[in-house]
Amino acid sequence: MHVNPNFEKLPGNYLFAEVARRVKAYSAAHPEADILKLGIGDVTQPLAPCVVAALKKAADEMLSSATFHGYSPDYGYDFLIDAIREKDYAPRGVRLAADEVFISDGAKTDTSAIQELFAADARIAVTDPVYPVYVDSNAMAGRLGDFLDGRWTRLTYLPCNAENGFVPSPPTEPADVIYLCYPNNPTGTTLTAAQLKPFVEYARKHGAVIVYDAAYKAFISSDVPHSIYEVEGAREVAIECCSFSKTAGFTGVRCAYTVIPHEVTGLGASGQQVELNALWKRRMGSKFNGVSYPVQRAAEAVFTPEGQKQCGETVAYYKKNAALIRSELAAAGYAVFGGVDAPYVWLKTPVDSWRFFDRLLDEAHVVGTPGAGFGPSGEGYFRLTAFNTYEKTAEALRRIRGL
Ligand SMILES: *Cc1c(COP(=O)(O)O)cnc(C)c1O
Repeated sequence: MHVNPNFEKLPGNYLFAEVARRVKAYSAAHPEADILKLGIGDVTQPLAPCVVAALKKAADEMLSSATFHGYSPDYGYDFLIDAIREKDYAPRGVRLAADEVFISDGAKTDTSAIQELFAADARIAVTDPVYPVYVDSNAMAGRLGDFLDGRWTRLTYLPCNAENGFVPSPPTEPADVIYLCYPNNPTGTTLTAAQLKPFVEYARKHGAVIVYDAAYKAFISSDVPHSIYEVEGAREVAIECCSFSKTAGFTGVRCAYTVIPHEVTGLGASGQQVELNALWKRRMGSKFNGVSYPVQRAAEAVFTPEGQKQCGETVAYYKKNAALIRSELAAAGYAVFGGVDAPYVWLKTPVDSWRFFDRLLDEAHVVGTPGAGFGPSGEGYFRLTAFNTYEKTAEALRRIRGL
């Protein structure tokens, strides 16, 4: 048996392993140092009370044969699909059919699995820096060539940097699939409808598909789209992945949803148009047995008025941290980006990003994430996250200002 050779081409999980290694080594050498972590990529605040109440109520239903639930439908329960259609999409003028929404256990699951619908030689484009999942999943499937000098030889990188205002340009070389994530991880920046439009136009013109990751849409307060479907024509070319993880603190509960409109198609073997919706249904039927009933009830509770209020308060808490990071860094003279519609602040580093990491750890005892770990265009930048407590965030920024 030969192992999948594509795995051997993957670089190690260098970024977070290396961050952890350096923090551990530093702590061992300086046991007195009170290290503050602003590199956290996970939520820290508890679930909303009404979400936990729904989870408990559903768990109790499992005690009686009259209300017990076994396998859920492969694509999700109607009560949750309808809540998403009516409470999440309809208010923004986006009409979805019930069979265009698929419930899953995570947006990482969906954004990594969606590439199974694309041909083995499909050409992939990603914004750079990027959430590594889109890249790794296509690399494992053998689409990206070789990893040489920090770049995949068969991947199109769309640079996002201070020079272009973090507004990527559509590919200038042929691309079949474009992954976009807005609000963005790691940069925390957003795109307006006018800035997304060229991507929709590119996809329509070239028969490409956009995979749009909207995991952070709950953090939006500016006038930017919450959904790619707010852009004209996107229904014909875009798949959208959403998650309850950052919106409602579900990172440990697990629930997400992916939208695939019937209009989104690719080419079949004899040149005919094939609906990606039908392919995804076929795939889910073969590979997925649904999200648990209590978890789908908990997710449904997020869309109640109480759920919206309680989850909104937690998002507001993180946003307040992000605003503080932004304003304190700016006062310290850093060029800062993002952090308005996202829990991430992206700053320009005066030295290379790993050197900045070491300096921050050594002189301020603050941990962040070096931008170089997110792709070639991340070099020279650094990510701080808003997921710590307000008090610790404020203390970390006091130390950074004191440098
Ligand atoms: C956190 C995150 C997700 C959410 O993933 P889940 O698997 O739903 O927890 C998706 N996309 C991005 C870019 C993220 O940062």
